[in-house]
Amino acid sequence: MANIVAIVGRPNVGKSTLFNRLTEQRQAIMDNQSGVTRDRHYGYAEWTDKRFTVIDTGGYVVGSEDIFEGAIREQVEIAIEEATVLLFVVDTMTGPTGLDHDFAKVLRRSKKPVYVVANKAETFERQQAASEFYALGLGDPFPISSQTGSGTGDLLDEVIKHFPNEGVEDPEGGIPRIAILGRPNVGKSSFLNVLTGKERSIVTDIAGTTRDAINTRYKAYGKDFILTDTAGIRRKARISDNIEFYSVLRSIKAMEESDVCIIMLDATRGLEAQDMNIIGQAVRAKKGVVIMINKWDAVEKDHRTADVLRKEMLQRMAPIDYLPIIFASVHEKQRIFQVMEKAMEVYENKHKKITTSKLNEALQPVIEAYPPPATKGKQIKIKYMLQLPTPSPTFVFFCNLPQYIKEPYERFLENKIRENFGFDGVPITIFFRQK
Ligand code: GDP
Ligand code: GDP
Repeated sequence: MANIVAIVGRPNVGKSTLFNRLTEQRQAIMDNQSGVTRDRHYGYAEWTDKRFTVIDTGGYVVGSEDIFEGAIREQVEIAIEEATVLLFVVDTMTGPTGLDHDFAKVLRRSKKPVYVVANKAETFERQQAASEFYALGLGDPFPISSQTGSGTGDLLDEVIKHFPNEGVEDPEGGIPRIAILGRPNVGKSSFLNVLTGKERSIVTDIAGTTRDAINTRYKAYGKDFILTDTAGIRRKARISDNIEFYSVLRSIKAMEESDVCIIMLDATRGLEAQDMNIIGQAVRAKKGVVIMINKWDAVEKDHRTADVLRKEMLQRMAPIDYLPIIFASVHEKQRIFQVMEKAMEVYENKHKKITTSKLNEALQPVIEAYPPPATKGKQIKIKYMLQLPTPSPTFVFFCNLPQYIKEPYERFLENKIRENFGFDGVPITIFFRQK
């Protein structure tokens, strides 16, 4: 199951500030490069080894306070259905308002855990004022300040109790779960049809229940795999404003439940900001990734076009340079096999374990030749390293002064691991620990 935390509440209580607070560290890497749009409303967060997706539902609602019966109600209902945990943000500067009570009424009917987050509680008075929100009938409020971060730790300690231990369990262990992601119209359904050999039923606008992602096992192109598909997440009737919200939820769920994401791009459109968002999200979620540039048939090209495009993409994705890029055409069934083969290879890479002796044999000489630069006159000595038994490749380097090792050196080590052991398509995590 995907762990999804949805932030709901009326306008101006501090939802987006809280969203930024929860996701800020995780966003740093990709957002600084390559002009990724900053105004997105979902992101990745982590608290004591539990990882989860955060959605700022406020970002999907247009309109003002007098429209509760419309867009806001819809937003809350979707959030209730799709989220694992709900954070209901209220404002200690104003106290409970009529609109807060409207939200509370809907939230009280849900069976999902709801936390009343009494925001802007920087002062003692406002911390006291938080208890007024007990009247909303949703339990004890958590006084926090999204601006300073105070109180958010206690809140997250509670929130993560609702997540299963390891995130996603693998019922058919050893068989790669693959999600096909991409912007609308890149060719996802066409690709799925080719893979599964049948016309998939079109998702209809039936009001009512939604389902989680469906995992279906397939054999195609000589490969055995499970497609995680979110066709079950139905659009309700009358929804217009929230279509983007739906498609985002779909891809988040499919991504969370998969091992490897095939991220499709449209060759006739090039790499767009939304594509970068999806790629960034998958990398932050530590998923294996294959980039499939579809509609290659529709591009006017010569023998250099692919290379030029590949270089351009790598530049924009920098420093992420380890994702395989395949130029394909679903219509002409060109390189479909390669895409699937690469996805399997990336899956193997994701689960590859390097023994401690092999790792040290390969990296010790490199580290001796290029030790971490001394900081504040202090020599930094890396003693040894090992790979942890985690679901995605994670390496720990034991050293005397872990706090002095800077990002460029970390990247250097990552590159050396990749050069020696080839983790094509898979994000690597590196930790430094005192020894
Ligand atoms: P949203 O409409 O619910 O997403 O609210 P925003 O995050 O845009 O915040 C609304 C206003 O409240 C902004 O002016 C924020 O600076 C302010 N704000 C948000 N969080 C806090 C907080 O923890 N303390 C204080 N004092 N102000 C906050
Ligand atoms: P989805 O929204 O990502 O599921 O995209 P669809 O599978 O519905 O495809 C969107 C459009 O792109 C349709 O008109 C397809 O026929 C077209 N399309 C899909 N794959 C290819 C391809 O390989 N080449 C070309 N030229 N068009 C394609």
